[in-house]
Amino acid sequence: MNNTLAFFLVIIGTIVLVFWRRKKISQTKTIELPFSDDDRKILEHQVAFYQTLSQEDKTSFENRIQGFLSRIKITGVGTSVEPLDRMLIGASAIIPIFHFPQWKYSDLHEVLLYPTTFNQKFSQQGENRDVLGMVGDGAMNDIMILSKIALRNGFANSMDRNNTGIHEFVHLIDKTDGITDGVPEVLLTHQYVLPWIQAMHQNIAEIAKQHSDINPYAATNQAEFFAVVSEYFFERPDLLKERHPDLYSLLEKAYAEPKEPERK
Ligand SMILES: [Zn+2]
Repeated sequence: MNNTLAFFLVIIGTIVLVFWRRKKISQTKTIELPFSDDDRKILEHQVAFYQTLSQEDKTSFENRIQGFLSRIKITGVGTSVEPLDRMLIGASAIIPIFHFPQWKYSDLHEVLLYPTTFNQKFSQQGENRDVLGMVGDGAMNDIMILSKIALRNGFANSMDRNNTGIHEFVHLIDKTDGITDGVPEVLLTHQYVLPWIQAMHQNIAEIAKQHSDINPYAATNQAEFFAVVSEYFFERPDLLKERHPDLYSLLEKAYAEPKEPERK
């Protein structure tokens, strides 16, 4: 083969490769439809957090939900997934990390929606079906399970400080640093970690003595404490600030202020 022929073959090969890759990229790209008025109505009527945002932030919230829903699969198991469920799952994902525009739930692949509660073995039948939501482990590592009833109830009552969707996404955020331990190192600057751990221990002791208005489930362990108190923070920030200013201030630092760069 002479040099000219070899040169042309390389050029043609490169062109074919570039076109083939472009075609592949365009095939895998998700087509994003404009945010529909029906979806916007759901947010306006069901999501109290959205109602408090400025117009600019509302648009940003919608875009973030759309981006999330284009990446994460939502599958109904024994139930249908309706537009309301997709919006509420999207809102649950975005509310906690709204102040972190670059945040991607890279550990999450799919959300399974179950009609009602289930047990620790993901069964919808039998005893101990008191689980409302769960972040998977092991073989289920990139899966989240949510009960449709619990998801919807969480948003239907925005005053009761309970929101299962937000609770499960907070567990996922907590898990980002490798351990689900109630200490979200991705959100908290180092100097606030110790005060946060002390505040958790103190409040868990108060709950045990029945001296607290925080849902007693928070006393299960640190991870549950962080998830339950985050529900409180996002649903009733005013009340948390009034009754637990220490927790409010630390959670505000975690969720609303960009983490300061660590000093080595
Ligand atoms: Zn939990």
